[in-house]
Amino acid sequence: MRILVVEDEPVLNAQLVQAIADAGHTVEAVRDGNEAHYLGGAEDFDAVVLDLGLPELDGLTVLRRWRAAGRNMPVLILTARGAWQEKVAVIDAGADDYLAKPFHMEELLARLRALLRRGGEHATAEWQCGPILLDTRLARVRVDGQPLLLTSHEFKLLALLMQRKGEVLSRTELSEHLYAYDSDRDSNTIEVFVGRLRKKLPPGSIETVRGLGYRLVDLGAEP
Ligand code: CA
Repeated sequence: MRILVVEDEPVLNAQLVQAIADAGHTVEAVRDGNEAHYLGGAEDFDAVVLDLGLPELDGLTVLRRWRAAGRNMPVLILTARGAWQEKVAVIDAGADDYLAKPFHMEELLARLRALLRRGGEHATAEWQCGPILLDTRLARVRVDGQPLLLTSHEFKLLALLMQRKGEVLSRTELSEHLYAYDSDRDSNTIEVFVGRLRKKLPPGSIETVRGLGYRLVDLGAEP
């Protein structure tokens, strides 16, 4: 696999390159946001490790520009330990996962493996739940035939709810699904994402089961 590493701190940059190359990947490494933006836009990578604090152009802006340009490779963000609001901003910008500094290289490699696995998973078909149609291969959603724009995390949430429609999913299950391995996941974040997804779907699609979690309702089913 071909991985892009974006980190301005020279020692950490070298450690990342070494560890990811040792894991059997081809690594390209850059140290500023402009180079990263250019390279990630011009060349194909199977995944990107992207630091947030970068010279020239910050990591969040780089990520937003890639996503706006339709570049959808998996991106793992490196961030200083922050509030859940910051995680929401990172995820909203289109990150697939994030890791707070300082981290153990083993954990970074594990998360990278998870992202690369997920990238190769979208092999099948369309799922339907009432008016909602989700194309797992193209990562697109339609409601009553109309395209629905979702962030990558809203999409993942909806995909899990659809895969297990009718079942009650706990916040813990949902956050495990969203953040491959997280040690500091936060159920507030899940509430925020469920709330946003709910606003975009037909009313009544996501039912809150008090004290247990959330359930996707088949609005097309016979009462
Ligand atoms: Ca930095």
